[in-house]
Amino acid sequence: MSRFMRKEYDSIVPYTPGEQLNDKKYIKLNTNESPFPASPKVLETINQNLITSLNLYSDPKLKKIKEAIAEFYNVKPDMIFVGNGSDDVIAFAFMAFGGLGGEFCCPDITYSFYPVFADLFKANLEKIPLKDDFSIDVNDYVNKGKNIIIANPNAPTGLALTHDEIELIVKTNPDNVVIIDEAYVDFAPGVSVVDLVDKYENLMVTQTFSKSRSLAGLRVGFSVASKTLTDDLEKLKYSFNPYNVNTLSVEAAAAAILDRKYYENTISQTIEIREFTKNELIKRGFTVTDSKTNFVFAKSDKIPSSVLYEELRNKGILIRYFNSPRIDKYFRMSMGTLEQMKTVVNVIDEIIKERE
Ligand SMILES: *Cc1c(COP(=O)(O)O)cnc(C)c1O
Repeated sequence: MSRFMRKEYDSIVPYTPGEQLNDKKYIKLNTNESPFPASPKVLETINQNLITSLNLYSDPKLKKIKEAIAEFYNVKPDMIFVGNGSDDVIAFAFMAFGGLGGEFCCPDITYSFYPVFADLFKANLEKIPLKDDFSIDVNDYVNKGKNIIIANPNAPTGLALTHDEIELIVKTNPDNVVIIDEAYVDFAPGVSVVDLVDKYENLMVTQTFSKSRSLAGLRVGFSVASKTLTDDLEKLKYSFNPYNVNTLSVEAAAAAILDRKYYENTISQTIEIREFTKNELIKRGFTVTDSKTNFVFAKSDKIPSSVLYEELRNKGILIRYFNSPRIDKYFRMSMGTLEQMKTVVNVIDEIIKERE
């Protein structure tokens, strides 16, 4: 920090994104991106006369993308807030509902951006321990009396609460905002609570185009919530960056969400690949959580995950390893194509054999 920066920022530890290495070609399974290209409709849209309109500002109302999302979920466009990735949306939510001394809680093991936002916006964040099996104890959140943020399915554990468990949390905290981060929900059929936003004023669901819609580089995420909560985020957005989503992203994301067939096909493939990978790891004696996402979370008694991470990296495969309490025995591996995952399993066999 320079001597000019406010001392109040001393204690902030920024989020560490997964490595984006390009010293050689990797099988990249460390940031939960999709291995599939985006819908062909996305490229078509970008190619059409779009480039010619870049001299103009993007639409601050984000009408086109809001209408596309509204159609997909059968809600009103004024219940949708769109951000530059869902990180942007979640940041606005922390600012709006937790900023300047508000109260939030979340699981102790979850998306590591939440504590960063809490620090940045001066929210008090209570971290509630997961159970030993990494599941969330719903009772910890019933009648909590604080704002709540839960990733469902959770990361990096991959575990999901059911639709009814989430509803219980939302229903018993009517005077607080409950944010459900559904970054991975498309890989967990039946789990999303988007259908409840009309019923509960205090529920905000966030989702992203980064994982299930193969558009991580485009940076588009959104929330679906009551108009009241949505307007709160809009107020902050217009006080900070009214053009937070660029024109190409708006058009491309709208095209992507309207291409349901392509989306359903890549989702079902990813789920199959995940189940294949889980089974292959279980056959080899790994402990694997029941992940409902596009990644697996696992460990082996035969090889520490820190070593597996290093060895795989040397062999051109990137996974994620977290050197933090309770989960330091585990690794997280995003799902690649089926071919890639077959290769990875073979390489893991080689690595374990070399150590015997
Ligand atoms: C990936 C991820 C996000 C954010 O994704 P964006 O690319 O910013 O849309 C949010 N929450 C969780 C739990 C994630 O894994």
